[in-house]
Amino acid sequence: MVNPLWPPGRGGAAPDTTCASCVWRRPGKVVDRCLRHRRARVRAEWAACPAHTAEASLDCLSCAACCREAYHTVEVGRRDPFVRLHPELVREQDGRLQMPRAGTRCPCLQADNRCVHYEDRPRTCRDFERGGANCVEARRRVGLTA
Ligand code: SF4
Ligand code: SF4
Repeated sequence: MVNPLWPPGRGGAAPDTTCASCVWRRPGKVVDRCLRHRRARVRAEWAACPAHTAEASLDCLSCAACCREAYHTVEVGRRDPFVRLHPELVREQDGRLQMPRAGTRCPCLQADNRCVHYEDRPRTCRDFERGGANCVEARRRVGLTA
């Protein structure tokens, strides 16, 4: 069935694949939503678009896009306990506190993609929504999502 989010002629859709097997489809009680396409309505039987991702769920440990080169810094609030706990990681820039990247990776990101300070990570990281708009953008920037 034609996918109105990615009509025929734009090319790139995976053949014989539908939205049913895509990790971006969020089934709902009444309608399903596509997290990749700004929570637009989607149906399982629609033809897949190029962003189709055949994963059972978004696996942050094999991704870590948001902690890698997708973003360059993490903003940290002045009252965030992280400032007191890890002052060596926080810098003031343009009047704001930030935790800049060491190269392309967050300084807290370990080789296995786990955060060394996960239990007391900044509020910005706690609020980051897996599957949210910034997650989609991060994965696009590192080439994990079309
Ligand atoms: S990203 Fe594409 S294939 Fe996946 S649910 Fe959305 S429209 Fe369907
Ligand atoms: S970009 Fe999304 S899926 Fe990837 S690590 Fe961050 S929250 Fe998880």
